[in-house]
Amino acid sequence: MQSTDLEEIKAALWEQASHPCTRVKWGVAQVMAARFRKGQLLVLLRGRGRWYPVEAVTIERPRLCPTGACDLEDGPNERSIFSKREA
Ligand SMILES: [Zn+2]
Repeated sequence: MQSTDLEEIKAALWEQASHPCTRVKWGVAQVMAARFRKGQLLVLLRGRGRWYPVEAVTIERPRLCPTGACDLEDGPNERSIFSKREA
């Protein structure tokens, strides 16, 4: 899904760091960090040394981890993300 919600993107970045299945991307580039400046969404891409202004980022998150390696049920952070989404 596409997102411009910084809170949602930051939660996904946190997930990405702990769960290999979650991916935050801009095109084919992986997003390492995101912030807003003057209403503009900026992202730091893997392997690049500067912030890029973008319209939105893509958050890829499987409903269930296909390998079982990520414990997606664990942690208060994720629980709040999922309950918000399913509400
Ligand atoms: Zn996984």
